[in-house]
Amino acid sequence: MDGSVASGCEMVIGTRADPVAIVAQVCDPELPFLSIVDLGIVRSIDIEGHLVTVTITPTYSGCPAMEAIRSDISEALVDGGFKAAVRTVLDPAWTTDDITAQGRQLLASNGVAPPALPAIVLCPRCAAASPRMVSEFGSTACKALMVCGSCGEPFDHFKQLR
Ligand SMILES: [Zn+2]
Repeated sequence: MDGSVASGCEMVIGTRADPVAIVAQVCDPELPFLSIVDLGIVRSIDIEGHLVTVTITPTYSGCPAMEAIRSDISEALVDGGFKAAVRTVLDPAWTTDDITAQGRQLLASNGVAPPALPAIVLCPRCAAASPRMVSEFGSTACKALMVCGSCGEPFDHFKQLR
């Protein structure tokens, strides 16, 4: 993930805090270029005075990133001068359809094939169709490792979940 070419997650330090903007700058630790808003896991942000309650839905059950995301949200809000509460709701469940259009673009431009049926995954390097799955589990549990049948490039595919 080093040297990513595009990011939705540049931290803006020193600007007067907007809690919604702060939450939008928190990124998935497993996809450090992708904000949790573009990932689609933020269900609501409720602001009552200085208390900001953020409601999130986990991606894959048992995803180890969720605990880190919860504490990253709290830390970012506290750094911005707010009190933070992070709630988790399981229903309605998150699906990869909740990833925003910008999130899909960021995945592709960072070499991760966005969610799609395995039969129509495109190589993020040469856009050839029908790569071969090497492993159900790539660098993280939510990604599969694929190899392009055309250019031979190995790449992660963010597995479709719906
Ligand atoms: Zn390719």
